[in-house]
Amino acid sequence: MGAGASVSQDEVSALPQYHILGGDAKFAELKEDDGKVPLSKFEDPYLKYGGEYRGDVKDSKDFKYLTFDTVPKFSPAHRSLMSKVLTPELFEKLKDVKSSKGYTLSNAIMTGVVTPHLGVGATAGDEECWELFKDLYYPIIKGWHGYDAYTQKHPVDLDPSKVVFTDQQRALFGEYVSSTRIRAARNISGFSLPTGATDADRAGVEEVLKQAFAGLKGELAGTYYELGALTPEQTAFLLERGFLFQIPTSKNLLTGAGAARSWPKNRGIFHNEAQTALAWVNEEDHCRIISMELGGDIPSVFARFCALSNALKESAEANGTKLMWNETLGFLGTCPSNLGTGLRASVMVRLPEFNKLMEGGSHEDKELLETVCSAFDLQPRGSAGEHSAAVGAKFDVSNKQRLGLSEVQLVQKMIDGVAKLIKLEKILAVGGTPADIRAILAAEQQAAAASVPEAVAVAE
Ligand code: ADP
Ligand code: MG
Repeated sequence: MGAGASVSQDEVSALPQYHILGGDAKFAELKEDDGKVPLSKFEDPYLKYGGEYRGDVKDSKDFKYLTFDTVPKFSPAHRSLMSKVLTPELFEKLKDVKSSKGYTLSNAIMTGVVTPHLGVGATAGDEECWELFKDLYYPIIKGWHGYDAYTQKHPVDLDPSKVVFTDQQRALFGEYVSSTRIRAARNISGFSLPTGATDADRAGVEEVLKQAFAGLKGELAGTYYELGALTPEQTAFLLERGFLFQIPTSKNLLTGAGAARSWPKNRGIFHNEAQTALAWVNEEDHCRIISMELGGDIPSVFARFCALSNALKESAEANGTKLMWNETLGFLGTCPSNLGTGLRASVMVRLPEFNKLMEGGSHEDKELLETVCSAFDLQPRGSAGEHSAAVGAKFDVSNKQRLGLSEVQLVQKMIDGVAKLIKLEKILAVGGTPADIRAILAAEQQAAAASVPEAVAVAE
């Protein structure tokens, strides 16, 4: 087929990523009078970065993996840590490395290449990858978490009684926070991760988890729903309340990593009766455990999270399975951003003043929320999850790090950081300017820097 050619539906549906390009619906939309579509309008956007479809044993009807022979053609739009870390030398060193389950360097970088806006841009396909491709992952981990995986060890602390939530913080959260959610990734040893999984892996993982869910007791007891068996109304209901994972689009990590193959088969959601303890199956990780409720009572949500984490671990172990974990990287999973605790503690927080700046300010003002969040090691997201918009000035703000700090430390950092963020929102609301906010931040950072020697002394 030449570039100027028109193609029939049969021809175009044979293109490797046909469904990602819009599938039958896109074909119908572009169809011309002769019943064909100019190929130029249906060009595979994945091919412009230099990879080729060579056939990969993991290929499925709805997704084909790319193979790269050299460093991909990164563009200025590529902002991921992977795109910065992957030098030609590193590429050469790792390009023929393959895990025993068949995951390659090309597989590991694919989503970061074809989804340029991602921040991390690399994935692991199984447990072994974390060792085999560490020269790619460790610098990414350093950039994201500030953790040196070559030398450090990861701490664990799931004791909710250690979290401090002052009356003043409780009052601030009560005023600005509409809901709280704490989740973490958990993966089952022995199965490929969703990015590298076969149908049998996904079915096996689902079976192990269903048994573990069946073992949950008391407040945590509940029901597992297969994604494919949910009606569109049930799906909409769960999505609206933030209970369900996002359905994969060409924008998120899952699609380009091959983790959305055979969707929705063997995906599902578990929740207890009160819908405050949930678990997702075979989304980005084998399992995401979630504790959530309305309001801003962080200690309550964290206590339930710890109970769910322990119960799932015990239940899985009672069935003879083990979670992926090692002392350098903590809980292992698909994305370098979710190692260690794998924990993301988020609040839906109303920030109308920051939102106004984002919508109408100068470039610097638009970035103010990002700047403030990053100064406190927080990460802002939109109201419907990663890479979504902030509807009604509501933002999902969470800890950014997951690794090198314990669960207790991360929840504490989220509480302290969000409390400061709300105070800054209040300053803007009474006429404070973005310049005032930047000055306050600079003063905070100076004070923090001045107290570092003391902190280090205590830590040692
Ligand atoms: P994660 O990767 O942590 O699972 P996502 O960004 O993919 O998070 O979002 C998953 C879903 O959880 C989205 O629907 C999002 O709106 C919802 N969500 C996140 N934080 C909260 C919160 N504090 N309260 C209610 N819903 C939330
Ligand atoms: Mg997600």
